[in-house]
Order: sequence, then C-alpha cells, then structure tokens
Amino acid sequence: MRALRITRHQSAPELVEVPDPVPGPGQVRLRVAAAGACHSDLHLMEMPPEQLTRQGLRLPFTLGHECAGWVDAVGPGVSAVRVGDACAVYGPWGCGRCRPCARGAEQYCEVTHGAGGPGLGGDGGMAEYLLVDDARHLVPLGDLDPVAAAPLTDAGLTPYHAIRKALPLLGPGSTAVVIGAGGLGHLGIQILRAITSARVVAVDVAPAKLSQALALGAHATVPAGEDEDTAAAIRAETAGGRGAQAVFDMVGSASTMATAAAAVGVEGRLTVVGLAGGALPFRLGAVPFDVDVSLPYWGTRGELFEVLDLARAGLIRAHVETVSLAGMPAAYDRLRAGEVTGRVVMVPDREHARQVGSGWPTPSIFSGQSA
Ligand code: NAD
Ligand code: ZN
Repeated sequence: MRALRITRHQSAPELVEVPDPVPGPGQVRLRVAAAGACHSDLHLMEMPPEQLTRQGLRLPFTLGHECAGWVDAVGPGVSAVRVGDACAVYGPWGCGRCRPCARGAEQYCEVTHGAGGPGLGGDGGMAEYLLVDDARHLVPLGDLDPVAAAPLTDAGLTPYHAIRKALPLLGPGSTAVVIGAGGLGHLGIQILRAITSARVVAVDVAPAKLSQALALGAHATVPAGEDEDTAAAIRAETAGGRGAQAVFDMVGSASTMATAAAAVGVEGRLTVVGLAGGALPFRLGAVPFDVDVSLPYWGTRGELFEVLDLARAGLIRAHVETVSLAGMPAAYDRLRAGEVTGRVVMVPDREHARQVGSGWPTPSIFSGQSA
C-alpha cells in the first residue's frame, strides 16, 4: 500500500510503498476512511532530531493520528469488533494497565508517555490501511460519517477535554476566548456553544477563519494584531471589561500567550493547547490573581465517546476538505501557510475517486472543495 511517511528529519513527508499491515494477536486492521491533517504533523516534520528522541519518537513512521475507518481484518483473539464496523480511532495509545489508563486517560500513560501511537512514532492513518494495537482503541461510529468523524478524535477531543476542565467557570455571563480558530479552534467554538452558556469570542489572524467562527456560533470576533490591542479588544467583549473567565490558546506562541494572559480575568483559567513553543512569564503582575494556567494534552477515551455523541446530536460538526493521499504534501504546505479553513482530511484514492464521482460529500455537511 502507499503511505505518507516522515522518513528524514526536518524534511517534507514522502509518499512511499510499504507492505500491507497484517494484524497479529489482539490487533485490528482498519481500511482507512479518513485521516485528518493536524498542525502537530507540521511540528513533527520540523522538529530537531534531539527533540523527537526526547519525546520517544523515532523515524520513519507514517503520519496521521486522527483517523476513522472500517474494520478490514482482525487478528487471533479479537471478538469486540467485526469486519465492516465503522470506527473512530482513539489516538493516544497507552498500556491500558497503569493508573491514568485505568481511568481512560491513556494520553498520560505512565508506560508509553504518549509515544508510539498512530502517526506519533507508530504508523498512522495517512495510508490505505491502519493497524490498531487493541480493539479498546476503536470507538464504534454507528451511522456517523467516518470522514467527518476523523477530526473529532483530536481536533474535537482536545478542545473538549480542555473546555470540560473549565466548565465550572463558564456559566451565564461568562466569556470564553478561543485564540486560533483553525482545526481545533473551529470545533472548540462549537463545543463551547454546545456545552456552556459562555459568550464566545474568537481570535485569529485570518479573516476567513473569523467569518467561519461567526458562522459556527462565536458571538464576537477579534482580529489578532499587536498583543496589547488584541487583548484590549477581547476585554471589551467581556462583561464589565473584567476579562475572560477562560482563554483557550490554540496557537501557543509567545505572542498569543501574552495576549491570553492580558485577556484573562481574575480567577480565570488560561489553557495553552497550541504547541508553538511560546513561554508565559508566571509572576506577580504577569497574570491576574488566582488564574489557573494549564497545558493539557489530547483527551480521555471516555471523552471521545462524548464528543461523538455531540456530533450525533448535531451539536458539533467538523468542516472538512477532502484531499487524496497524493495531494497531502501540498495540503500540508497550505496548512503551514494558514490557508486551510476547518480541517483537511486525507481520503484514500479509491474512496476519494468514488466521492468526487458521486458528488459526495454533500455541501450541507462539508465545507470546502475536494482537491
Ligand atoms: P491550524 O493550523 O488548523 O489552526 C491554527 C489557527 O491559528 C489558524 O486558524 C491560524 O490562522 C491561527 N493563528 C496563527 N497565528 C495566530 C496568531 N498569532 N493569533 C491568532 N491566531 C493565529 O492548527 P490546529 O491543527 O488547530 O492545531 C493548533 C495547535 O494545537 C498546533 O500547535 C497543534 O500542534 C496543537 N495541538 C495540540 C494538541 C494538544 O493535545 N495539546 C492536540 C492537537 C493539536
Ligand atoms: Zn493532532
């Protein structure tokens, strides 16, 4: 099969031929329906070798940690899923036995430390087939469309986890700010609208993302400019100018973190989700009193069930643009340039040709065009 792999450090991924994976005992082979292109993939492509090693990742591996597909074959001993089942893939693969894993927080596994899962050191879903280590990492989709569901496993699950932790602060009269209305942000805005009564303010550098944010339910938008001006504009959108109860920084650069610190109110919560590598001075005067700062990673297995339930209830929807495997290197360049609205989702060539030929996906469910 063909697969999009990181083969060399700090280089563009390559489309190469690899053997079809064969499921061993306990494993499941999925026929990939879709794999989302996350900004983290760009960080992985650009990461210096020593940093990759520190995170326990070794090259080469196939990209794609945001996947959905159909069970294609099962290894000996697998009875929990059947061939043909549509499933979303829970991406952070833990050992399943340590304390965090026992409560479904496999992203904080004490054995794997988040390394080795699909597209993160292990082979991911930017290919025709994906080998899943354990049926526990598959969540049944039922009648949810696998293409629209794939981004929910990360671009949906990560903001959901971060927002849930801020829930006690997001009652009536509160304001939540989303900085970076891209793949994660466009779902974060919808999740905030679905599960909180907060006023939602979206911040981005790109006008197209701000228009989409409004269409998805944001109450107000602020174009990102000079940090202080941006923060003042955000505060002007909060009750009494007191600042936001929760700020979700989906970029995580020095500049966005400075904006976040200046926009959050006393006793608020500042969550840095983006991995752009910025730093936040944490001292008297740098953040308001009693602000909680957190740096969450992904979400729990149980939370993925809930995210899929939100989609099933029609409360959130990933806006996807489908691209064939061959089109992915160019799509990643567009993601890097900030030209992707919503999520680019890789759909293997065979499925892609079928969709384009049939005029599917329907415009009411998907935005953007097929490439
Ligand atoms: P994306 O490229 O789809 O979206 C980023 C958005 O930020 C874009 O809309 C862009 O226009 C906007 N932006 C860029 N600079 C900005 C600025 N200075 N001010 C305001 N907006 C700005 O990326 P994504 O896939 O949504 O990922 C976002 C970040 O989250 C990445 O750093 C990614 O690695 C990280 N991430 C973290 C986790 C986690 O568990 N913590 C999980 C997934 C992704
Ligand atoms: Zn990701």
